[in-house]
Amino acid sequence: MIETASINITRTPASRISELDYNNIEFGKIFADHMFMIDFVDGQWQTPQILPYGNLSLSPATSALHYGQAIFEGMKAYKDANGEVLLFRPVDNARRLNLSAERMCMPTLPEELFMQGLSELIQLDKDWVPPTPGTALYIRPFMFATDAFVGVRPSANYKFMIFCCPVGAYYANPLRVKIETDYTRSVEGGAGFAKAAGNYGASMLPSKLAQQQGYHQLIWTDGKEHKFLEESGTMNLMFVIDGKLITPALSTSILAGITRDSVLQLARDWGMPVEERQIAADEIIVAHANGTLQEAFGCGTAAVIAPIITIGYEGKDYDLPALETREFSNKVAAELDKIKTGEAPDLHNWMVRI
Ligand code: PMP
Repeated sequence: MIETASINITRTPASRISELDYNNIEFGKIFADHMFMIDFVDGQWQTPQILPYGNLSLSPATSALHYGQAIFEGMKAYKDANGEVLLFRPVDNARRLNLSAERMCMPTLPEELFMQGLSELIQLDKDWVPPTPGTALYIRPFMFATDAFVGVRPSANYKFMIFCCPVGAYYANPLRVKIETDYTRSVEGGAGFAKAAGNYGASMLPSKLAQQQGYHQLIWTDGKEHKFLEESGTMNLMFVIDGKLITPALSTSILAGITRDSVLQLARDWGMPVEERQIAADEIIVAHANGTLQEAFGCGTAAVIAPIITIGYEGKDYDLPALETREFSNKVAAELDKIKTGEAPDLHNWMVRI
């Protein structure tokens, strides 16, 4: 298996960068000039390529479209004050991609190849990393099964690709979330810890129903009893109760967020007590009633820290303390922002310069 290889680069003859209005970027709709692509054929990763962003031509029998061997990652590149490009913990995304690949019976991609493809792509499209505070280049690595074959079996052939979208400043509106007690995102022994496309497909109906009830998103609960809290939408979930940072322990039903890990690390650096354990919905309701529930938030690449203002549970809404009182979430959001743009020291070597 190749670890690194020289990439065949075809540059776009006509960059679209001049069409980009940095002050008005719609999330996920504008794509940078180039994309990275590598095929897995005959048990081997083939010659990697970078080519102009464009459509793919696929057989209608493409296995991923029917049987769901499709996984992805999400990460961001930032610019520092000198205009240099920084990636946040990209090797962790490469590792998580490979965990997802193993669970979905897909080939793993050597981390070096992931990093090489990523670096060369971002280098080529570095003008697409927006310079203003709060903005970033969202990066979407993904892999899918390409066999043209009808029948449930692991595909023999795959495609791994990376494309990028510039994203504007994300103002995290405080969230109203509903603790979901009927539907399940994932179960112990399932594939919830993998970033597999099907997990997201199955989450859309329950999320839509919650939105019809006036919530922004769900808090997923365990699949057996719907008693223990797992994640919030596509973010990991955290609470500050009585001065302690508490988050559900990782399991096969929870995605190990890179933001989650970073928030826990910073909290530990600052000497804050941290607990990774089961959290029953009832515990949150009790903490709310006795006034010890100080903060609740989701954390993930897109919003980084998304404060939760209202929690709905069994038909009742519980309002949480005002955002300005939330010492920890405000501090950790600001610190992460600064680390990502080179303004604060990167004590854990999270940033990779391109
Ligand atoms: N949980 C789920 C289900 C997600 O899709 C995401 C987004 N990747 C997260 C948590 C947060 O992970 P990260 O911090 O790595 O973005």
